[in-house]
Amino acid sequence: MPPREACGVVGVSLQGKGAAPYLFRGLRALQHRGQESAGIATSSHGVMHHQKGMGLVHEIFTQELLDSLRGTTGIGHVRYPTTGATDLENAQPIIVKIRDEDGAIAHNGDIVNFERVRRHLQARGVDLLGNADTEMMAQSIALEFGQTRDIETAIRRACATLVGGYAVVFLVGNRVYGFRDPLGIRPMVFGTVDGGVAVASESVALEMMGGKSIRDVEPGEVLVLEKGQVAHTSKIPNGGETAHCMFEWVYFSRPDSVVDKQPVYDVRYRIGQHLAKESPAEADLVVPVPDSARPQALGFAAGTGIPYAEALIKSRFVERTFILPDQRRREMEVQVKLHPVPGLLKGKRVVLIDDSIVRGTTLREIVQMVRGAGAVRVDVRVGCPPIRAPCYFGIDMKDRRQLVAHNRNESEVASIIGADSVHYLSIPGLVESIGLRAEELCLGCLTGRYPVEVPEERHRFQKSLVEY
Ligand code: SF4
Repeated sequence: MPPREACGVVGVSLQGKGAAPYLFRGLRALQHRGQESAGIATSSHGVMHHQKGMGLVHEIFTQELLDSLRGTTGIGHVRYPTTGATDLENAQPIIVKIRDEDGAIAHNGDIVNFERVRRHLQARGVDLLGNADTEMMAQSIALEFGQTRDIETAIRRACATLVGGYAVVFLVGNRVYGFRDPLGIRPMVFGTVDGGVAVASESVALEMMGGKSIRDVEPGEVLVLEKGQVAHTSKIPNGGETAHCMFEWVYFSRPDSVVDKQPVYDVRYRIGQHLAKESPAEADLVVPVPDSARPQALGFAAGTGIPYAEALIKSRFVERTFILPDQRRREMEVQVKLHPVPGLLKGKRVVLIDDSIVRGTTLREIVQMVRGAGAVRVDVRVGCPPIRAPCYFGIDMKDRRQLVAHNRNESEVASIIGADSVHYLSIPGLVESIGLRAEELCLGCLTGRYPVEVPEERHRFQKSLVEY
C-alpha cells in the first residue's frame, strides 16, 4: 500500500541570499503538519544539494547541514506518513531526473487514480521505483516534458491526468514551480520574503520566514518562481470550481494562518459561537481540549455566557496526538501531554470543547481525566460535524471502522467516550463558520460525497470490498 501523507511544503526563490535558512524557518512553522521526517533541496548553478532526515526540523538541520545546502532557490517538506514505511527513503523532497537535469519534488496530498496513471506510465516505458504519489507525479511531468520541452506546460499536462488533492513544490534548475490541484483541495499560499518570493502550505510559514502572504495559489495554478520573482503563472482550467478541505480550518492548519482568504482563528471562534446556538449546555465551566480547540471554546463561552477556564494544561512540546502514526503511541501520549489543574474541575459541570472527533480514543482519555479531577458532569461539544467517511485527499482518515461516528449516533458516541452528552456542529453551521459556500468546500468525510470520483479506493486503501 502506498504511503499517504498530510504534509507541509515550502519553496523559495531569492536574489543574493541563501535559501536554506528561509526554508528551515518555513518548515519549522509547518512542523505541526508532519513530524516524521523533513527534507530540504536547494539548487546552486545547476547543482542540486539535498538533505533529509527523520525527526523534527530543528533536530535534523544543524547549522553545518544548512551551510551545506547552497543556492538561492530551494524547496522543503515535512512529512507525516499515514501508511507505509516510516523510513528515510520515504522522506521528501525526492530527487528525479528531468532529461539530463536533476530536479527535486515534494508534495502534500494524495492522488486517487494512482493505478491508472501508473499503468499509463508503464505503457510508455516508465517504471516506478517505489509506489509513492510523489515519484509518480515527477515521472508524469518528466514524460510530458519529453514531448513539450517546457516544464510548466509539462506540469499542466501531467496535472490534467492526475486526480486528487495535492499541493506541490518542484525545483528544477534555478526555478521553483509551485502548483495546486485544480479544485484547490490542499492549501498553498504565495508571498514575498526579504529578497524574493515564496510559496508554502500555510501563510504562517511565509510570516515566519520574515515575509508576508500576498494571495492563495489559485486552484490549478502553476506559479513559476525565478531569481526572486514570479517569472510566470498559468492555470489548468477548472471551470471556476473549488473544493477546499474543511478540515484545514477545523483542525489541521495553525490558528494564525489564513487559508483560502479565511483566517483560521476567526473560523474556529465562529464555530464555537455556532455550537453555543445549536447545542448550549447547563454548565459551570467551558474547558477547551488544548491547543486546537481554544478559539472554539472561547466562542462557545461568549455565546453561552458560561465562564471559560484553561483547566487542562498541555505539556510544552509533545506531538499532536492525531498525527502520531501509531494508535498505541497516541493513547499513551494523552497521559503525557495533558494534565488537569487541581481544584478547578472539582464539583463542576464541565462543557468540554473539542475541534473534532476522529477515532475518539484521545477524547475518551480526556473525559476520564476530567472526571478523575472531580467534575460532576462532562458534556462534550464538537466543532466539526461527525466524520463518517474516509479521506482520500491527504488526511489520515482512511478506514470507516476507525471512525467513531461511523454508523453511530451522538448518544452512542457519548457512551463510548464516557461523556454525559455529545453534540456535534451541524454541516450548515460549519459552512457558515468557514464563510464560503458549501459548493466551494470539500465535505467528503462528512457526507461521503467527494468532489472528484475516487475510482480506485478499493484497490489502494482497502484489502477488499467486504472490508469497506
Ligand atoms: S474528505 Fe474531509 S479531510 Fe479529506 S479533503 Fe475532504 S474535507 Fe478534507
